[in-house]
Formats: sequence, C-alpha cells, structure tokens
Amino acid sequence: MIEVNDIYKSFGDNEVLRGISANFEPGKISLIIGGSGSGKSTLLKCMVGLHEPNKGKVLYQKQDFTRLNFEERIPIRKEIGMLFQNSALFDSMTVEENITFPLQMFSEMSNKERIERANFCLERVNLEGRNKLFPAELSGGMKKRVGIARAIAMTPKYLFCDEPNSGLDPRTSIVIDELIQDITEEYNTTTVVVTHDMNSVMGIGQYILFLYQGEKKWEGSNKEIAHSDVEELNDFVFASPFMKIAKEKF
Ligand code: ADP
Ligand code: MG
Repeated sequence: MIEVNDIYKSFGDNEVLRGISANFEPGKISLIIGGSGSGKSTLLKCMVGLHEPNKGKVLYQKQDFTRLNFEERIPIRKEIGMLFQNSALFDSMTVEENITFPLQMFSEMSNKERIERANFCLERVNLEGRNKLFPAELSGGMKKRVGIARAIAMTPKYLFCDEPNSGLDPRTSIVIDELIQDITEEYNTTTVVVTHDMNSVMGIGQYILFLYQGEKKWEGSNKEIAHSDVEELNDFVFASPFMKIAKEKF
C-alpha cells in the first residue's frame, strides 16, 4: 500500500501539484489520469523520489519515504519497478543487457542467475529468445514489453508505468494493458499507471485518480466514471467522438 498525503510540488512559481492525497492498494491497478500538463508525471516522480515534494508525504507500508535520506531509501527503491515514458531502453545494450542491468546494480545474483532471470522475464512478456536484439531492431510494442521485463526483473512490490501505451496502436495497447494487469494480479504488486488513454481507463481502471490543473478533481472506478457530475472529468472522458457515442450505452 502506498499513501500519498497532501502533496504539493512547484517548479519556480509554477505550482504543479496542489494538495494531492490518494491511496494505492496492492493487487490493483491505479490510474492517474488527466490532460497534458495536469501534473501526472510530476506526481509519479514525487512518489518514486525522482522529485522531492515541497510539502506532504509519501508512505510505503506506513513508512514515510519523503523523510528518508538516499541510503535509507535504497531498500524501498529495490522494490520499485518503473516503466518510463518511451520505454527508455539503453540503445547500446541488447535486450538481455537491458533486463539484467537492474539485477547487476541491485542484486547479488551471479551472471548465470541474472541470465536465467532475464529469460524468465522475457518469457513472461512473450519475447523469449529475443535476448541478443538491440532496441533499434524492436517495434514500439516490443520495446514496451522489454521495458516491462526490465521493470519486473527485481520482482517489484511496486510497479510504476508512465504512459505505457503512448505511441502504440489500439490493439498493441490492449496487449500491454493486459500484461500489466496480469502481472499486478500474479505478484500482488501495487501498480500505478499514468495514462490519458480512455481505452485503458475503461479497460483496467479499478481505481482512477483524475488530476485537473494539479488538483484531485475526482476519484473512483471505471464503473463510476461515466456517471460522475464533475464537469472537468466529463469534458476529459467524453472528449472523443467515440466516447460520446459509447456514453449512450452506459
Ligand atoms: P503531465 O504528465 O500531466 O502531462 P507533467 O507532470 O509532466 O504533466 O507537467 C506538469 C507541469 O509541470 C507542466 O506545466 C510542466 O511544464 C511542469 N514541469 C514538469 N516537470 C518540470 C521540471 N522538471 N521543471 C520545470 N517544470 C516542470
Ligand atoms: Mg506526463
């Protein structure tokens, strides 16, 4: 369980997050949604320690992460898997080297054990045998899957994904969403996904946090989202013609 408690974050005079509180539960996918620039990535970065909030707390199993120093954060960091926007693979490394990288950094595994683990993770994302390929040889969807394989290499308790579907066609997006969902259930991870993809919202949004100009405007599930009377949320959800048509079915 991760608890975010009254987080504020500014860059200069730009107050990007204004008093965000939320709970993220294990075995569940939580989505952070909102328009471009609403503060989604900033919130995610505050949660993993890539940004320091100006105010507020982030608790991992009741432990205040924000108060810990670099050394003290390491045990929690080891339990965090992260899928970055645009996959962020190392272009000069093979698929296998990308996946074994965190293991080399953070685990005591031998070379053989690392490769076994990489093979296991590759199989999990349906990319067995692709060990020696370089990122440039992969499609967008395959890169995301390698990113997921790398994120789960350390069997994380917490999985963070920033826009896992960006740049993917709708069908591949669903494959990635389902993979994230299966992993979440299988390993009981606390999974936090930033997205602005409405298919993901409707498909995997068990808990949804809607940000609007740095504030939490709404929270709930995908089953509740179509019935909200929050104007900003409705504008966001039903912005596309497809969703307008779909609304009549709800
Ligand atoms: P989202 O992910 O919802 O599109 P972001 O969290 O990336 O939005 O950005 C929210 C706002 O914070 C934007 O106005 C952006 O310019 C600003 N911002 C984000 N990161 C930084 C940074 N490192 N330095 C200064 N401003 C930033
Ligand atoms: Mg973002």
